[in-house]
Amino acid sequence: MKALVYHGPNDLRLQDHPDPQISDEDVLLKVVSAGICGTDLRIYHGGHRKYPAGTIRIPGHEVVGDVVALGSSVRGISVGQRFVVAPNWGCGHCRQCITGNNNRCANYGALGITEDGAFAEYMRVPAPAIAQGDLIPLSPDVDPAAAAMIEPFACVLRGQEALGGIRPEDLVVVMGAGPIGILHIMFARLQGARRVIVSEMLGARLDQAAEAGADRVVNLERESLAEVVMEESGGQGADAIIVAAPSHKGQEDAIQISAIGGRINFFGGLPKDRPTTVLDSNAIHYKEILVTGTTACSTADCWKAAQIVASGRLDLSQVISEQFPMSQAIEAFDKAEDRSSLKIVLNP
Ligand SMILES: [Zn+2]
Ligand SMILES: [Zn+2]
Repeated sequence: MKALVYHGPNDLRLQDHPDPQISDEDVLLKVVSAGICGTDLRIYHGGHRKYPAGTIRIPGHEVVGDVVALGSSVRGISVGQRFVVAPNWGCGHCRQCITGNNNRCANYGALGITEDGAFAEYMRVPAPAIAQGDLIPLSPDVDPAAAAMIEPFACVLRGQEALGGIRPEDLVVVMGAGPIGILHIMFARLQGARRVIVSEMLGARLDQAAEAGADRVVNLERESLAEVVMEESGGQGADAIIVAAPSHKGQEDAIQISAIGGRINFFGGLPKDRPTTVLDSNAIHYKEILVTGTTACSTADCWKAAQIVASGRLDLSQVISEQFPMSQAIEAFDKAEDRSSLKIVLNP
């Protein structure tokens, strides 16, 4: 098969690769659509801890595929069925796995991270993934490229659920208008937020944020987010704040612009060589602010996200800027690097 294979930092090769072999308990998917994620760019540049020196592996974890072969002991799945794949599985028996948070499992595995993933014509789905419900049935009526965005959407859903969801009375601030920020805007809107304000450094991204439903976009090169939030809220501050950018200042500002009783999600991590920041602890204390962090998504989050998308109430195709065939996988990665584009999808 044709596959995009990681051979080392900045060395991705589009090459012929042996078809995956499946055991009695595995499923083989023909990949229909696969999204390129920021995580894949980190892998590409050699910055992912699960891709140590010497790793040769196929990345790709945002996947829609059709079943083309089944192990003899697999039950309840048939050839020809279409699935969106939740990429993570856990050990299955620790406290985190048992409470539905397999993304927190100390011994997690993931397609495209610890196993070969979706930037290929075929992908093996291993037994533990199937046992934990990682194959989520998808109607053929749903656009597969849009459905490949269910995994990043599930991460966004997890981030907002950590805030107790978004409420109709909330004034919401999303920091960062990249693809993840856009998904945060769309989901906050869907839950009925009274006002959504988005801040971003890159001018090109501000229009995309407005198109996705932001009521007000703040160009940080020209405006102060704090001033805009105070003006929009009559001096009260923001009720829900999502920091979807790897920014120390963003995290610090979130505390300052929070309303009394506000909720904050640190959705983006900070650079690993500078993970600390200075937060106004008294503001958290006296304003009774809830500060949360989330990372990745569980299988349960992916099921919820898939149900919302299947309902037709959230059109994830809005977050895709371009699609490429497998033969242009390298160009697709170059495009994904361009910070003015949203999500790039490969259709192997
Ligand atoms: Zn991703
Ligand atoms: Zn576990």
